[in-house]
Amino acid sequence: MLQVDLRELARGPCATVGELPADDPLFAGLGSSLARPVVVSGRLQEIGEGRFYWHGSLSTVVRGECRRCLTAVTLPVAVDIGALFSQDPESEDDPDTYPLLRDATVVDVTPAVREELVLAAPTFLLCREDCRGLCPRCGQDLNAGPCECRPATDSRWQGLAALKDKVRD
Ligand SMILES: [Zn+2]
Ligand SMILES: [Zn+2]
Repeated sequence: MLQVDLRELARGPCATVGELPADDPLFAGLGSSLARPVVVSGRLQEIGEGRFYWHGSLSTVVRGECRRCLTAVTLPVAVDIGALFSQDPESEDDPDTYPLLRDATVVDVTPAVREELVLAAPTFLLCREDCRGLCPRCGQDLNAGPCECRPATDSRWQGLAALKDKVRD
């Protein structure tokens, strides 16, 4: 369970184990899509009056296109998480603490899962560090070999020459 009852926590640290489906609304607007469920584990414990510390981890697989050559790419993501939850209204403005309502009956660790995943998921993917991408002129995948196009500097000159011709007309 990723929501732990406060009465359970009063008795001692509690295990947090769960799996969130890749299409869980929690991950809406994530930027990259998930190819696998998000597997969560960890341990939640009370560390003071209305204060709880969660040490957990998440792992999943992110899916997308290589930014340069558009090949389908998957990337495993794993994050170690330390998060503080607090019922203290004064900690509401603390960016390092997840606020809990005064009358909360459970600690839900999923907001921390979402935030850590947002931070860890790459905003763009590459099929490999040195991907050569597609030729901007003919669209050939340059990882497969050079295309027939002239080098980029040549084509820029050609463009300029064509422009000059037009102006002259
Ligand atoms: Zn690529
Ligand atoms: Zn080309």
